[in-house]
Amino acid sequence: MTPKRAATDGLRDPIPISLVAHWVFCPRRAWLEAAGEQTDTHQVAVGIAAHASVDEPSTGRPADRHSVEIADERLGISGRCDAVEGGPDGALTIVEYKSTPVRRSPTVTEAMRIQLALQVLALRSTGAVVAAQAVYFVNHRVRVDVPLSADDFEAAAAAVASTREVIEAPQAPAALEDDPRCAACSHVGICLPDERPEVEIHRRIVVDDPGTQVVHVASAGARASVRDGRMRVEHRGEELASIPLEKIAGVVVHGNVDLTGGLIRELLWRSLTVVWTTGTGRVVGWSVPGTGPNGAARVQQHEAAAAGRLDLAKAFVGAKISNQATLLRRNGEAPAAVDVLRSLQGRAAAARSVSEVLGVEGDAAARYFGSFNTMLTPRVRGLGITFRTRTPHPARDEVNALLNYAYALLLGDVVRAIVACGLDPHAGFLHSASRNKPALALDLCEEFRAPVADSVVLGAINNGEVGPDDFSTVLGATRMRDRGRRALIAAYERRVESEFRHPVFGYRTSWRRAMEIQARMVLGVIDGTQSRYVGIRIR
Ligand code: SF4
Repeated sequence: MTPKRAATDGLRDPIPISLVAHWVFCPRRAWLEAAGEQTDTHQVAVGIAAHASVDEPSTGRPADRHSVEIADERLGISGRCDAVEGGPDGALTIVEYKSTPVRRSPTVTEAMRIQLALQVLALRSTGAVVAAQAVYFVNHRVRVDVPLSADDFEAAAAAVASTREVIEAPQAPAALEDDPRCAACSHVGICLPDERPEVEIHRRIVVDDPGTQVVHVASAGARASVRDGRMRVEHRGEELASIPLEKIAGVVVHGNVDLTGGLIRELLWRSLTVVWTTGTGRVVGWSVPGTGPNGAARVQQHEAAAAGRLDLAKAFVGAKISNQATLLRRNGEAPAAVDVLRSLQGRAAAARSVSEVLGVEGDAAARYFGSFNTMLTPRVRGLGITFRTRTPHPARDEVNALLNYAYALLLGDVVRAIVACGLDPHAGFLHSASRNKPALALDLCEEFRAPVADSVVLGAINNGEVGPDDFSTVLGATRMRDRGRRALIAAYERRVESEFRHPVFGYRTSWRRAMEIQARMVLGVIDGTQSRYVGIRIR
C-alpha cells in the first residue's frame, strides 16, 4: 500500500497544523481528517466573522491581520493563523479562535497549546518575533493568554513526526473505547466508535442534529440560483423558496428545472450532492465534489467489487427479504407468502454464489409483489386502483408509477450517503456494474425498499394523499401529475426524517441518517476496520 500523502515533486507534502492538533486530540481523528473526512467548519467561520467585526481599529484595538498563511519547511508544516496582532516592526501576538460550545468551559487544551507552538515556530522561521499567544473563545467572548515553554515547542515538533506516521499508515487507528473524548469529538458521526462492535448501544453518544434539510425543486420551469448566501428558487419572476445555504444537506432536482452554474459550484464547494431525476422518477445523474474523502478505500472498493464479496451480497438480500416479509405481515393478508419469504431468507443466507443469491431474490420478489395488492385497502381497490404485477419503466398502473418514483427518491438519498463517505456508487457486490447502473447504490437500497419506499407508497395511497386524479395514462404508460408527485415527495420526506429504533445498535435514528450509517458500515468492511456487514431488518 502506498503512503496516503505521496509527494509529487520529490518533497514531502506539508502537514496542516490543524491536523497535528487533531492528532493530539485523537490519532484516529487525524487519520480520518487526512483521508478527507472533514466536518462542518461553518460554526468556526461564523465565530471568526463575529469577532473580526469587534476588532475594528475604530474601537482602539491593534490592527489585526486575519487568516495569515504560514509554513515551516524544516518541520514540514503549513497552516494559517486566525489573527496576528502587532507589527510590522514590533513583536507579534498570535490569536487562535475557538468555537467551544458555551456548555463547556473555555479551557486551553493540550491540542491548542501544540497548535499555537507550531504557529509560533512557523512565524519565527520567517524571522518574525512572536511575543505572545492567546486563544479567543468566540462563544464565551473570553480571551486567554497562553505562555509557552521550551517543553511545549519540543512536544509540538514531536507531535508533527507522530502525526506524519499515523496519517501515512494505510489503515485508520482503532476507535477509542468508552472514552470521554468521543462525546466531544467533531468526527463522532463519521467515526462511529460505538457502532463498530455491532452490539446494542446502551449509552449512546448523541450526534448533534445538523438542522439541515434535503431541498427538492419540483416546479417545472423553475430556476434555482445562489444570492447573498441563500439558494433562491424562482418561477416567472415569483420567488418560490429562499433557503440559507448552511441549512441545506443536499438538493434533488425533479424534471425541467434549471440550476445556475454559480449554485452548482457553491454546493460542490460545500461537499453537497445534487441529484437530478426525470419527471417520471428516473435518476439521471448526480454531482460529486472533487475533494471527496477516502480515496484509498475507493480503490479497495473497486478491487473488492472485481473479486466479489458474497458476504455483502447475502447481507443485502437477506435484509431485503426479511423487510418484505415484515411489511407484508403487518399490512397484508397473505400469511402463506410471508412464510415462503421467511424460508427464502434462509436460502439467501446459505447461498454459495452471487447468482444463487440473485435467484433467491427473484423468487422473493415474485412472492412479495404477488401479494402486494393485499396491502391496498378495500377503499383504494374500490377506486379502481389495483396492483397486478411489478412493471418498472414505463409504469403500467398507478401503484407502479408511485413505486418507480419512490425508488428514485430512495436511490438519490442512498447515492448521497455513499458519496458522502467517499465510495463509488457504481462498484457494487450484488448488482452488476456491466449494465452501467449504480451497482453499490442499488445494493444498499435493497434493505430500505420495503420499510421506506414501499411503506411511503402504501401510506400515500391508502391514506388518500394521492388518488386516481393524480395520474394520467398515455399509450399504456401511467405517470403522476404534478400534485401527486408533490404529495409523494412530502410523504417520502416525512418518512426519511422519522425515527425508528436501529435493530443492531438499539438507539433511535432517522431513516436518512441510517442510510449513511449503513454506507459507513460497508466502508468499514471494505477498508478492513469492520468484521462484517449487518443489514437493517425491521421487526
Ligand atoms: S469519535 Fe472518538 S475514536 Fe473517533 S475520532 Fe473522535 S475521539 Fe477518536
